[in-house]
Amino acid sequence: MTDDDRDVWREQFKGLLDPHATDHDDVLDVAADENRSGLRRRLRQRYAQRPGVDGILVRIDGHDVGIATRRTADREAGTAGDQVSGVDPGSGDSATLPGLPAEFRAITFSCTDTDCTATSLASFYDERRTPSCPTHGQMAVRL
Ligand SMILES: [Zn+2]
Repeated sequence: MTDDDRDVWREQFKGLLDPHATDHDDVLDVAADENRSGLRRRLRQRYAQRPGVDGILVRIDGHDVGIATRRTADREAGTAGDQVSGVDPGSGDSATLPGLPAEFRAITFSCTDTDCTATSLASFYDERRTPSCPTHGQMAVRL
């Protein structure tokens, strides 16, 4: 694990972890593929089982990532468009993937006339609205 991994996990579980918390009474071991709603559910279960605890160290894949307090674990998931809670829109139901999109690829269309070099880029494919060559008309997706 690198510091980057820890940052990714902290970003993924932002809101569940309290960046200012320093003390913990308990440790929760979590698998690296745990999602946000799963971690929230496990933290709430653990707090329900242990009324005296107010600080659970979240350990992912054996690495200390951060401390979830009773308050952060009980905090409600964000609602769509809610910018107040500091939670990404849709994150409560895991509709938002953490981080930037991993892959984006433009679609290249080229003229079907073999002697023509006209090309056009598109961000999506809709067969009703394909770009056309100004001279020859029809273009096809170039793979
Ligand atoms: Zn053409």
